[in-house]
Amino acid sequence: MKKPFLTLAQARELKETYPTPFHIYDERGIRENARALKAAFAWNPGFKEYFAVKATPTPGILKILREEGCGVDCSSLTELMMAQRCGFSGGEIMFSSNETPAEEFELAARLGANINLDDLTHVDFLHKTLGRVPETVCCRFNPGGTFTLGEGKEGFQVMDNPGQAKYGMTRPQLAQAFTRLRELGAKRFGIHAFLASNTVSNEYYPALARILFHTAVDVAAETGCRVSFINLSGGVGVPYRPGEPVNDIAVIGEGVRRAFEEIMVPAGLGDAAIFTELGRFMLAPFGHLITTAIHEKHIYKEYIGVDACAANLMRPAIYGAYHHITVLGKEDAPCDHTYDVVGSLCENSDKFAVDRELPEIATGDILAIHDTGAHGFSMGYNYNGKLRSAELLLREDGGVELLRRAETPEDYFATLVW
Ligand SMILES: *Cc1c(COP(=O)(O)O)cnc(C)c1O
Repeated sequence: MKKPFLTLAQARELKETYPTPFHIYDERGIRENARALKAAFAWNPGFKEYFAVKATPTPGILKILREEGCGVDCSSLTELMMAQRCGFSGGEIMFSSNETPAEEFELAARLGANINLDDLTHVDFLHKTLGRVPETVCCRFNPGGTFTLGEGKEGFQVMDNPGQAKYGMTRPQLAQAFTRLRELGAKRFGIHAFLASNTVSNEYYPALARILFHTAVDVAAETGCRVSFINLSGGVGVPYRPGEPVNDIAVIGEGVRRAFEEIMVPAGLGDAAIFTELGRFMLAPFGHLITTAIHEKHIYKEYIGVDACAANLMRPAIYGAYHHITVLGKEDAPCDHTYDVVGSLCENSDKFAVDRELPEIATGDILAIHDTGAHGFSMGYNYNGKLRSAELLLREDGGVELLRRAETPEDYFATLVW
């Protein structure tokens, strides 16, 4: 069972000040989860999580994570600017971008961020842009091929296609990049890779770590460069569906520790730091999209029309992603109705749920769409002239704080030339 962190009474009260739809985040959940991650990697003195800003680019959230010891992972100019305005600097910022414009490298360097280079050609581009290279620099590795884990009766637990992904350098390029960077003045090196997204397996990070640790040992020996950190990037997932396996971050941290002891320590790389750039794992379960049922429609199927739409949460429309829905106040009612829960875009893909078994829904019921804390609000857009919603924080003390107001038509018109 998935339980919402907001009650019907709370939602009703909030609605009076903040009309639905809105996104709301759970401070307690965010903090507890961030602490569990930190504890899982406490064996590594240099460990740091760099929250992937793109997942939830909201200062009120970034500040909570900063208080919990996290840095930020940025990949655009405005994400860097936001990090700066939230008080992050230097080693608290990773800059993992691709096809990077010069001005972004300039700002990243000015902030003292750890720059992660996506391609061999970026080495000279960075040097030309800055007139130097930073002393600490990271390179993104792409091992190619396919990446699979845990073959079982129902197929692979994890399967992805690095060989088809636009990111990162080949193994020979990685060594070339290190050598060239060292010639240009770099002193400390990091290795980064992102091989699979939204994994629900305690084996993903340890398997990725093994690949990166072996690569680090080999490249260090080959080039004489000092590898000072390994960045495991994002990809640890969350169970969007009830009953899906839950990642156990303590088990994941222990799996990475074992690989570190086996591979890095004997090679003399035992002082390397482990970095992560989790987005989804840090925030997804701690956000709900709260929306009101405003219409019901009975044609060839049963439809519930809600006041949110794919412009507020795009994942179901573009990936067919499952997001669990709870009808607030009907948590224990039998799910004896089958609905498509739909938004108002003139796009038939604008469906939060298809053939979903739910309790009977009446107009005016308030629905909580689960696991929208990451890649939810942030993927919002203005199609059909829809406006982005407010973002709220349910504080640990039970109070509610506005993190971002809802857009108004004036915001929508602000960039137009009449
Ligand atoms: C998107 C992204 C992440 C975060 O991914 P999650 O799946 O949200 O954990 C981390 N690093 C980079 C470079 C990314 O692009």
